[in-house]
Amino acid sequence: MINKIQEFNVMRENLNYKFFINGEWRVSTSGKTITIKNPFNNEIVGNIQACTKEEVDQAIINAKQSVNCWENTPIRERAEILKKAANLMNKWSDYLGELLMNENGKPLKSAISEIKRTALIFNATAEAKSELVGTTMTGDILEGGSREKISITYRVPLGVVLCIGPFNYPFNLTGSKIAPALLTGNSVVMKPSTEGSITASHLGIILDKAGVPPGVFNIITGRGSEIGDYLISHPDINMINFTGSSKTGKHLAEVAGMIPLLLELGGKDAAIVLNDADLKKTVKSIVSGAFSYNGQRCTAVKRVLPMPDIADILIEKVVEETKKLSIGDPAENKSIGPLINSNQCDYVQELIDDAIDKGVEVKCGNKREGNILWPTVLDKVTVDMRIAWEEQFGPVVPFIRVKTIEEAIKISNDSEYGLQGMIFTNNIDLALNIAQELEVGTVQINGQSSRGPDHFPFIGTKASGMGAQGIKYSIKNMSRPKVIVMNLSEKGKLLRKCDID
Ligand code: NAP
Repeated sequence: MINKIQEFNVMRENLNYKFFINGEWRVSTSGKTITIKNPFNNEIVGNIQACTKEEVDQAIINAKQSVNCWENTPIRERAEILKKAANLMNKWSDYLGELLMNENGKPLKSAISEIKRTALIFNATAEAKSELVGTTMTGDILEGGSREKISITYRVPLGVVLCIGPFNYPFNLTGSKIAPALLTGNSVVMKPSTEGSITASHLGIILDKAGVPPGVFNIITGRGSEIGDYLISHPDINMINFTGSSKTGKHLAEVAGMIPLLLELGGKDAAIVLNDADLKKTVKSIVSGAFSYNGQRCTAVKRVLPMPDIADILIEKVVEETKKLSIGDPAENKSIGPLINSNQCDYVQELIDDAIDKGVEVKCGNKREGNILWPTVLDKVTVDMRIAWEEQFGPVVPFIRVKTIEEAIKISNDSEYGLQGMIFTNNIDLALNIAQELEVGTVQINGQSSRGPDHFPFIGTKASGMGAQGIKYSIKNMSRPKVIVMNLSEKGKLLRKCDID
């Protein structure tokens, strides 16, 4: 892939990409790089720097020193910079989308829309700047208070925010953290997922060109297993916004201590399908929900719980549609492409094999070539199978047939995860009742689970996360209220008169 965009030359030499500190692109003193290969054809996409702990220190020190200056930049100017960044993302979306496709095996169209969706989030975050408006209050509401006390409450940044993203949306799920962090006046250290670092690192060029001052935005690359703990336990990090697996999220929560955390973690979203569901719509939602980006989405449909009268026909139709999915090269926008790496393929295959050993019916799929796994439908999954509980993060949809709504609710809730749930039915009253019973952040009625639109609150409960994201929620969560109380003197009180006859 030839880089025709001159602005990007500064961040790489041949295939070696640099990291970004204090407005400069640097080569790590470790002398080590990590090679990123295209999961579809195994070609080298590039090499990223394996940063050292000293470089982590430098990034965080620079970020810390820049907070005051950035915080004092008027909010409207910070918002304008976000809008300029959004324009650059749109301008360069074709190039960045192709890079993302090569790096992560995402179909080209989806990869380009990931870049454009990030631009939308930057624009919408800039538009939401009024969320930072403060309030004043007099103290005479509660007994013992008086009008001589007046509070001024406004929002201030938290300081240095560490943004860590996952491999599946490496540009979007770092961008959606960075935009609210910067709008609220924080400085940022970003640690992208190793697989995805090259595309995500372009945020350095974009934000620099858009006018973010040196030091306010920094990028550290390298394996989480090597520098992750050093980053998350660093005393000068004031907040961590993380998306990734529940395992890493729990580890992070243990190490990070008392600093505020926003965690978006794994899921095992279940679709409960009642007998009266609209078959066509349900089949479409299940196939798209389970297999888009090969099931490598936190909100993929990861279990289906059909009621007895609809189970047979539903599974038959899902298999029919699944067999129509095209398989192959992401550059040709095939529906199913490679998983992120061979370890992930091995893991998904392990879950399928465990289910087969325990008597599952494989309706289609269960074939592998390189990193591509054929979309697989499993029927008669039982609760002793690992696939009923573990997050597959691959193109497999397990059907767990249930006899009653109560059983469906129980199986949904017995999961350690609590991201989203789905109910397919024409009985909206019943759907609302079931929705109230589900232990998840969001329930979708007659639709597949999904993160967007991005102004909705996005919440994971149990092992699926902590805190709410979404444009205005992220702005609130990445800033804090600060209160100044004016205690007026008695003199002021004497001047005030009450002349009612
Ligand atoms: P992951 O393995 O947990 O990695 C996530 C990030 O954490 C990567 O940047 C990784 O760096 C870093 N990391 C690893 N160990 C670390 C440590 N000790 N300290 C600090 N950072 C560390 O997750 P993934 O495989 O990239 O992403 C898939 C998972 O993310 C799935 O479970 C999916 O459900 C979840 N996800 C959730 C959401 C949501 O919104 N709820 C959205 C997308 C994905 P390296 O890449 O260098 O290891």
